[in-house]
Amino acid sequence: MSTVRTRFAPSPTGYMHIGGMRTALFNWLWARHNGGQFILRIDDTDQERNLSEALGPILQAFKWLGLDWDEGPEVGGEHGPYFQSERNDLYRGAVDKLLAAGKAYRDYDTPEQIQADREAASQEKKNYLNIRRSLELTESELEQYAAEGRPSVVRLLVPRDQKIQIDDAVRGHVEFVAGLMPDPVILRGNGTPLYNLATVIDDAQMQISHVIRAEEHLSNTPVQVLIYQALGYELPQFAHIPFVAAPGGKEKLSKRKLDKYRKSPQFKKMFDKAEAVFPRIGLENAGGLDPVMVEYYEKIGYLP
Ligand code: GLU
Repeated sequence: MSTVRTRFAPSPTGYMHIGGMRTALFNWLWARHNGGQFILRIDDTDQERNLSEALGPILQAFKWLGLDWDEGPEVGGEHGPYFQSERNDLYRGAVDKLLAAGKAYRDYDTPEQIQADREAASQEKKNYLNIRRSLELTESELEQYAAEGRPSVVRLLVPRDQKIQIDDAVRGHVEFVAGLMPDPVILRGNGTPLYNLATVIDDAQMQISHVIRAEEHLSNTPVQVLIYQALGYELPQFAHIPFVAAPGGKEKLSKRKLDKYRKSPQFKKMFDKAEAVFPRIGLENAGGLDPVMVEYYEKIGYLP
């Protein structure tokens, strides 16, 4: 792949997390540095709330900071749609292909059965792996189950003899043993895709060359690599970057722990400044904003 294409794929949450923005910045910089393209893709498969309300602050944060995107909402592009909720046919098509190739299977095991299997494995002090009972079903049983509308999910058939190797641009060489991985669900019973499946299909079809994202996703990467391989797609370059940590800690900065952060001198300075500014701009209680959100800095007068 010669053209550098990076992407940022936020779930519309109603605000832009400062840590997410930092990840987006690295993607934007890498694309711009290489004369490539930066794509904004919206991971809205689990969207329950009003999409434009939930997406508005995210797009606004990009605009305020001057991070332009070459493809995505408002600008379109050749590899759309850029909203996952509009890409269901692509996901279903890929799942059908995997099923037909025997690289995925429809699993009729009930949650109770799986729970019992897990307990049995833990009693034997073994790592849990799917029993794969549904692979033993005959054609006519499968037809009958489908006709009855029995609940099922589609799972990727993990090739258990494999070692998954990832050469991460930040983390270096990382290996995972497929033989320790349960078969991940790729399609829910209601026909909606799981993150790992949707992401791989989108990244491959949007010809993303570099997947730069927070390190919390490193653990998803082996599953994604298996999906790339099963679908015959070329792997992108992965780069898992550290997230923005909470003050004085190692865990991810979270908007639910503000009281704790108030004890940090730097954060306190910001809170104090904001508390003086907000009433003057007519926002009570900071208008629901806090320093984990990009909008907060815009509102209190920081320059982009
Ligand atoms: N929507 C995912 C997230 O917000 C994207 C992760 C990824 O970059 O693959 O974490």
